[in-house]
Amino acid sequence: MTNFLIFGPPGSGKGTQSVKLASEFNLIHLSTGDMLREEVAAKTELGKKVEGIMQRGELVPDEVVIQMIAERIDSNPDANGFIFDGFPRTVDQARALDETLTEKNTSILKMLMLEVEHEELVRRLLLRAEVSDRPDDRDVNIIENRIKVYREKTEPVIEYYRKDGKYLTVNGMGDIEEIFNRLKETIAAYI
Ligand code: ADP
Repeated sequence: MTNFLIFGPPGSGKGTQSVKLASEFNLIHLSTGDMLREEVAAKTELGKKVEGIMQRGELVPDEVVIQMIAERIDSNPDANGFIFDGFPRTVDQARALDETLTEKNTSILKMLMLEVEHEELVRRLLLRAEVSDRPDDRDVNIIENRIKVYREKTEPVIEYYRKDGKYLTVNGMGDIEEIFNRLKETIAAYI
């Protein structure tokens, strides 16, 4: 299995680029944000529990997302590999992911960090608010809170992978195809 992790702040383009990478390299795209939004839309018990948390731009509890991801990995035993998007977002999530992958005799090959300037993140999310129905994109204060939560709780995950030599950075500024080409060049040596 070839597993990648796409990383970066909200608005860095993780979702857009993961879909393209999944199709290019025959990987299964796992986005905890998408999974949680599906739960909210379907008004499940879990969806009701997480809706407010997501609207405020806070993180949902680790155990919720860890279980969702473990289930998806379990139900795809023949996968060529996975691309994890929006997960892990805390060091505890990273540890849990490692354990789950180790049980399957596999691991994360590389973490791909999309580097984007702060003003550009806010600009992209406000632009997305005009075309999507994501309530967390509509309010600049919520956007700033998501970026703050990212800096405080999610950035420490970088060190977790960097110490294992798995951390790669990619310039995430520019247009979608340009960034996709940079990602492909960056991982070409490993896939
Ligand atoms: P973005 O990266 O643009 O903020 P996502 O779609 O990845 O958007 O996530 C949207 C929201 O879903 C987050 O703000 C958070 O509330 C919740 N969420 C998604 N993934 C996780 C996770 N791994 N751990 C905790 N909360 C998560």
